[in-house]
Amino acid sequence: MTDRSFHVEPHRSDTLVRCPLCTGTDLPVTLEVKDHSISHEHFTLVDCRACGFRFTNPRPAPQHLGRYYESASYISHSNSHHSLTDRLYQLARRWALSRKHALVARFRSNGRVLDVGCGTGEFLGYLKRKGYLVTGVEPSLKAREQAIANHAIQVYPDLDQVPGSEQLHIATLWHVLEHVPDLRSTLKRLFALLAKDGLLVIAVPDRESWDAAYYGTDWAAYDVPRHLSHFRRRDLQRLVAEHGFEPVAVRRLWLDAPYIALLSERYRGRGTAGALLRGLAIGTWSNLVSAFSDKPTSSSLFLFKKASA
Ligand SMILES: [Zn+2]
Repeated sequence: MTDRSFHVEPHRSDTLVRCPLCTGTDLPVTLEVKDHSISHEHFTLVDCRACGFRFTNPRPAPQHLGRYYESASYISHSNSHHSLTDRLYQLARRWALSRKHALVARFRSNGRVLDVGCGTGEFLGYLKRKGYLVTGVEPSLKAREQAIANHAIQVYPDLDQVPGSEQLHIATLWHVLEHVPDLRSTLKRLFALLAKDGLLVIAVPDRESWDAAYYGTDWAAYDVPRHLSHFRRRDLQRLVAEHGFEPVAVRRLWLDAPYIALLSERYRGRGTAGALLRGLAIGTWSNLVSAFSDKPTSSSLFLFKKASA
């Protein structure tokens, strides 16, 4: 036996007896994954035998989820410039901001945008300066306060609190849906909030990527227990389509693989420089494999339109 005693305590966890996608009940364990970044506890992932959807099960009960986010380093991505890794992260993020704006601007150059899981509000601040009317949802009090203070924007702690009076033109979930405990109520709410023909943008890690297969249980984008759902393209498309959205496009995201590979190398015990070099090499290779095959990149980006009734 290894350090299995670190398993999440049963009284603090919820076990799903049905697959959140297809309600299947045959849910064999396929992987055991360690929380490398915060609790160092182990969690099991199950694959639904009927539809193949992979999810973290059991998962921390909602009232205990918060402590798995309590880490300086999890927040530090927002504003510190300490290590080389963080500096690279900041550089990549600035580039990502302009790419994200370009993506929504192709759809609409103004209008009402909701960013769910807006963190410290950098994306919304950027859009606000470009003339959009922006609203955020962010459960973390610290991040929410920073978003409000730094960008003077409206941020709600919960999607249910966003007023439905003025319909949205665009809703974005950048690496958020994999964290969400109740997928269906979230998508239902988004459908209600979006105007007809509104755009829904979702980015999630993709476990069918080459880097996911390469790192296996050490793949940093499993990020248990913060990530509850581990999507493939077909899982996400099926789920969202069931809530009244039409697929518009699926895109590759090139920046995620090097970052995820770097973290995965760290989890395997490599030092900073080694992890950086190998992470870049493995991430680049994963991107190349994706560019020349059907394989997704480390994360996939999905665009949906709210279907006309
Ligand atoms: Zn299923």
